[in-house]
Amino acid sequence: ACNDDELSEFQESGIYRFKNSNAVFIDPVRLLNRSHTRFRVSPSVYYSRFFESKSKHSGSQELEVSSDSKKRKRKQKKPHNLNERERVAEQRHQKVKPELLKAHEALLGSTDLLSTMKKLRSSFQSSITEPGVGQSFVELVRVWQAPMYEITLNYQQSCVIDQCSEQRVLPLFNSLVANETNDDVEAEVLNRKFILPRWGCFYMSELGQIHNLIPAESDCGFNLIVIDPPWENGSAHQKSMYPTLPNRYFLSLPIKQLTHTDGALVALWITNREKLHNFVEKELFPTWGVKYAATFYWLKVKADGSLISELDLFHHRPYECLLLGYCSREVSNLENQSAPRPVKDNQIVISIPGDYSRKPPVGDLLLEHAPGPKPSRCIELFAREMTAGWISWGNEPLHFQESKYFLAD
Ligand code: SAM
Repeated sequence: ACNDDELSEFQESGIYRFKNSNAVFIDPVRLLNRSHTRFRVSPSVYYSRFFESKSKHSGSQELEVSSDSKKRKRKQKKPHNLNERERVAEQRHQKVKPELLKAHEALLGSTDLLSTMKKLRSSFQSSITEPGVGQSFVELVRVWQAPMYEITLNYQQSCVIDQCSEQRVLPLFNSLVANETNDDVEAEVLNRKFILPRWGCFYMSELGQIHNLIPAESDCGFNLIVIDPPWENGSAHQKSMYPTLPNRYFLSLPIKQLTHTDGALVALWITNREKLHNFVEKELFPTWGVKYAATFYWLKVKADGSLISELDLFHHRPYECLLLGYCSREVSNLENQSAPRPVKDNQIVISIPGDYSRKPPVGDLLLEHAPGPKPSRCIELFAREMTAGWISWGNEPLHFQESKYFLAD
């Protein structure tokens, strides 16, 4: 009966909490849908990877054979000698490994959840979508014509704010565009359609304009700041997806100025490179005035519950880290700052990944740890999507809001 409760709660919330464990399994599609009223995120588009399409005659057997042979190939490789930095990375990995294994065992032990997972991709009607066309905003924001681009918000009859207009036209770049209604709003840019969640805002600009988000009054600052920087990592594939920036650029992010008088929880996604861990611990957090509090791990699984790669694979770990810390405007505030619930270390969030480099929506899991008044004021930096009630900043915060990622009712 306990499992039934967990499962029905999961169907509702998108969050499955394992008993006596520091791990949760989440369905990003359900979590993202919390932001929307009339539109639903398309599961078949979200889960475009890690749901192997089974061919009817061979079943899953063929897949198992091929992944087994891959494993064998990897094992045959001679272990290379680790350099100093790699040794530190390996130690870090060995330290968290038991926790990750425990979390994965909890998942594999929840048979009801496992059978539900296989259906996540098809749990709603499938969507009919046209392939993405049109120029990326990343390019447009840089051209001299950028100030001339506009976005048109088309309000539903039922939520028109001022009596006379059902449309509002705003500059697309370097301006705060807000859906100040309690309903999804459809918006149009260059003949492409986008869905803006209720009370969702975005500011689309290059890094140089980010200071425009610094509130005039600090009690209008943010209590939760989620950051997923475009770290350089040398992969050619990544370079083709979005531009990256050298680490020194992130030192100048105005985190303290964005922080609310009562403080902010700062959540920073990082890759598994040891150099980066080191940079964040020794330089970035101290420069921002962020005091490290805990690490969350995102463990990536396939629809069948298996890890997306072997846990010990050095350069392709099946997990990523989210570093959490607290920022306060004044140093003295850090101690008496009221975190509603102290954030526990080593929490593990398991999910099936979506598109390349897309992070699971962890905002709801973090909210209970954000200091300050409720509802918390939240911002996502380098965002590619919008959340109800949040501000999304980056050079493509509308990316995953395009209508092709949604199912219409
Ligand atoms: N969290 C996002 C998600 O889950 O989809 C992924 C963010 S991705 C790691 C980093 C983002 O930063 C990309 O959208 C990239 O285009 C953007 N970016 C890169 N350089 C930028 C710049 N100079 N100014 C603003 N955004 C930039």
